[in-house]
Amino acid sequence: MAPPHTLIFRHPEGPRPAFPVRPVFLPNAGCPGKCIYCVQEVQTGRAALALGDIYEHLRRELDRAAAAAHAPFELGFYGGTFTALPEDYAARFVALAAAYKQGGPVAAVRCSTRPDAAGLPLLRELAALGLDSVELGVQSFDDAALAASRRGYDGAAARAACEAVREAGLNLGVQLLPGLPSLPSLPGHAPEAFRRDIEILLEIKPGLVRLYPCLVIEGSALAAMHDRGEYAPWPLETAASEIARALPPLWRAGVRVARLGLAPQPGLLGKIKAGPWHASLGSLTRGRALYAMLAQSLDGRRMNALRLPRRYQGELFGFGGELIEPYARLGLKTANAKPWDQAHFALETA
Ligand code: SF4
Repeated sequence: MAPPHTLIFRHPEGPRPAFPVRPVFLPNAGCPGKCIYCVQEVQTGRAALALGDIYEHLRRELDRAAAAAHAPFELGFYGGTFTALPEDYAARFVALAAAYKQGGPVAAVRCSTRPDAAGLPLLRELAALGLDSVELGVQSFDDAALAASRRGYDGAAARAACEAVREAGLNLGVQLLPGLPSLPSLPGHAPEAFRRDIEILLEIKPGLVRLYPCLVIEGSALAAMHDRGEYAPWPLETAASEIARALPPLWRAGVRVARLGLAPQPGLLGKIKAGPWHASLGSLTRGRALYAMLAQSLDGRRMNALRLPRRYQGELFGFGGELIEPYARLGLKTANAKPWDQAHFALETA
């Protein structure tokens, strides 16, 4: 009998972020209107507040964190169109956060905004004040999906905004919303369009991507379209398999995939009328992506045993153990998969 061979596999995902993000929610602040899928109060679990109140609350919170010598965190302004906030609030918020950077609790500052509100002069001004990263709510680079979703910009404008963020010296993040409606046939944009979006991302190589499959949330214009039979969201299986397919190439390109699906904010679950909701979409898709990569590296061989970095222990056999059987078909029993403190995987093959 031939001796077993050991294959080495290195997971292409980069290191975890150095600092946790502390979010500051600004629901719909600065938005030119309401996008058809968006109900920020439900998605963020926060009611809209006056910007002055949020500013004062944040200032007190940062004072307290500084006084307590709190471990550093990244401050993230989310839930609105940050670069279109009225009364110069974008600059005021960034300047406030930046004042707590030197020796204080704020390690970095990020914000999210729309591509059509990301003008280079303002981005440069905010970068000079201390902004580090901008996440663009691109949603899709597909013109038909953007038009059907009435986003008000096209794919070329979204790409130009990505360039502007980089030109301003800022780190770029991109948020995508797979499964948006699409013209000419409104029901959900085809998986092919999402695959093209991923190809574009692989060219642009943002530092970070968030993928939020499009959900039908009560109170949104999309919910009314859904009621009229004009929109059908992706089934969960489509979202899960498309995202699992997208992860390995993104990781290999050095793109960090941060958030998979909406965070389960209080009140969100009861408001989802339809769509690919899963509380553990991250674990579901990451497990499948890892399985695909390990199976590919086996290249037809059978795997008797596996040593794996502890970081991946929880997701190896998939959400709810859905991958136990597929791994068994590759030759791997659950008892023969053991975590270790190395950074690589070792696959013992027959
Ligand atoms: S711009 Fe963003 S936050 Fe504002 S309504 Fe549209 S999706 Fe919601």
